[in-house]
Amino acid sequence: MTTEQKINLLDLDQEAMEALVQKFGGKAFHGRNLFKWVHKHGVTVLDDMTDLSKVLRAGLKTSSVIQVPEVVYDQPSLDGTHKWVLELSCNNRVESVFIPEDGRGTLCVSSQVGCSLDCSFCSTGKQGYNRNLSVSEIIGQVWVAVHLMGKRVTNVVMMGMGEPLANFDAVVDAMGIMQNDLAYMLSKYRITLSTSGIVPALQRLGQVSDVSLAVSLHAPNNELRDQLVPINRKYPLEQLIPACREFIRGDKRRKITWEYVMLDGVNDTDQHAKQLIRLLEGTPSKLNLIPFNPFPGTEYNCSAPERIEAFRQRLLRSGIIALTRKTRGDDIDAACGQLVGRVRDRSRRSLQQNSIPMSVPRSAV
Ligand code: SAH
Ligand code: SF4
Repeated sequence: MTTEQKINLLDLDQEAMEALVQKFGGKAFHGRNLFKWVHKHGVTVLDDMTDLSKVLRAGLKTSSVIQVPEVVYDQPSLDGTHKWVLELSCNNRVESVFIPEDGRGTLCVSSQVGCSLDCSFCSTGKQGYNRNLSVSEIIGQVWVAVHLMGKRVTNVVMMGMGEPLANFDAVVDAMGIMQNDLAYMLSKYRITLSTSGIVPALQRLGQVSDVSLAVSLHAPNNELRDQLVPINRKYPLEQLIPACREFIRGDKRRKITWEYVMLDGVNDTDQHAKQLIRLLEGTPSKLNLIPFNPFPGTEYNCSAPERIEAFRQRLLRSGIIALTRKTRGDDIDAACGQLVGRVRDRSRRSLQQNSIPMSVPRSAV
């Protein structure tokens, strides 16, 4: 991303920063220092980077900026969870959610403004697709959580707005920066990419990255999945399941996390559970049952808690690890994309002014 044709340094990985400083007479290690200043120390003023020479700083100033997304809304919960709305260029807005629990801090990161895949139960999908986020806008969400909000981010889940595999290059580059020891030092086990199942992109991901994988399954057969997750019409289960198995091949410690939103009377019967057990046979799996988060205009209701538990018990009895994701109330804007839709219509609020109680899905992994 550029401002007045300048490079935003948050768009660059370590190698690119090393190359950039060399254009201005610096050495590769100056590029490493620059990278560290930006990501590890959160410094956005070049003149504060004391180990870069004046000449180098002057050169960098002519060619680059350090621009982070602006937080225009902060929705905190009593338990420490925060949902942030970030303003990007051209009035585009996305969300990040920070979820502290059990000694870890998970950040849920967006990859697109809206989404074109139009899953029938998803508020982001209903907003349509606007554009892909740049590397700086994706890594900028981590930067903001760590350096502006002072949070300890130990895990990242690419489960915010958008389909990460539809913004492949920027997402892969940003996840690389998350893993870099000079930046956020997150291991591959602490970054989870969630996808609705764009099979060729998933296969490509397996060649360039070994982050953890979550797949939005939501239905145990093609007929139902075609309705709920329309990308299934293009890449049906007989393609998706083998591609997922291939992704974790050879690593006995890894499992696919399947996400399954619980929709009353739609995908939550004993028959569906049986089909699901058959479908996942032989695939190292963990199943996350997600209580549906309703939003205005939706045709669905969330399954009753007893139904979700009965469904879960059936899976457990067959040996599948199945967890129900906890929610924090259903009163407002819970699922991804809902807050942006609501905040868009409001006047801006300063961070300090906000104290709206919130409900968000808890740990996404
Ligand atoms: N596009 C990616 C990642 C973003 S969506 C994907 O689909 O996997 C993150 C998760 O939230 C997905 O599992 C998605 O199915 C789920 N989700 C979307 N809308 C929801 C809703 N209203 N209630 C509960 N979960 C929802
Ligand atoms: Fe897009 Fe994921 Fe929502 Fe489907 S669930 S519309 S893929 S963001």
